[in-house]
Amino acid sequence: MERGRKIGVDLGGTKVEGVVLDEEHRIVCRQRVATESAKGYDHILERIALIVDACRGEAPECQVIGVGTPGAVSSRDGTMKNSNTTCLNGRRLQEDLVTRLGVSVVLENDANCFALAEAVAGAGRGAALVFGIILGTGVGGGIVYRGELWRGPQHLAGEWGHHAIDAAGPACYCGQRGCVETLISGPAVEKEYRHLTGAGLAAADMVAAYRSGDGAAKEIFLRFIDRFGRAVANLVDILDPEVIVLGGGLSNIDELYTLGREAVARYVFNDELRTPIRRNQLGDSAGVIGAALLV
Ligand SMILES: [Zn+2]
Repeated sequence: MERGRKIGVDLGGTKVEGVVLDEEHRIVCRQRVATESAKGYDHILERIALIVDACRGEAPECQVIGVGTPGAVSSRDGTMKNSNTTCLNGRRLQEDLVTRLGVSVVLENDANCFALAEAVAGAGRGAALVFGIILGTGVGGGIVYRGELWRGPQHLAGEWGHHAIDAAGPACYCGQRGCVETLISGPAVEKEYRHLTGAGLAAADMVAAYRSGDGAAKEIFLRFIDRFGRAVANLVDILDPEVIVLGGGLSNIDELYTLGREAVARYVFNDELRTPIRRNQLGDSAGVIGAALLV
């Protein structure tokens, strides 16, 4: 009965979550513990081990565990990079987890896990080519083709958040200027509002302010929509996915699916836009479900 079950772990900055999926991709067990990343790298390994042990009882035959992480795994030497849980950077997380857990481990960045989950078990189900977009504190993306992640030889495919759409734009931690992440992430939008008004306003509240007719919020929000359109049109031109799925905190903004879609249509190299742009179906669980689907 437990045959075919999969274990996935989502390593987040604040919590480590684990699930066991059955063969129909239903969650049969869910475990959570605080990451406590301030206590360092070895402590994080122990927290992951705790979660895996708690899940194993429901999937005793599982010999490979999928783990979603912030940041990326270097295709050059297997070390972690670009993680905002900074104690992971430069570490051989995959090797260390294999040693600690005694099973095989497949490691993948969280945007790719999101894309995989939504393509296989969420809003992109049934489509051959799905692009998943994370739009929140960070901006990322992943490509899933016929149910499998397309990573590319440099493990770079889908890194939509760091293609630049304004060479004179803000500096990005990646070394470029005007990356999509520096322009349409939650913090980017909040920063623009602060520059314009001198006041702090969370991105979610800015949408409410725009809807109620606040002039400054309208200016910032419509610019956000326009940039979203340009950035998504670029990816539609190159990839022409069958479905685009949005996730992350900002994906809850209704206008992305109306005004945002119109902006994409304006910039796309075509006389129409047929690509569905859908809200995610798996919510906060997409990352951990995607991790389980890695194996
Ligand atoms: Zn960048």
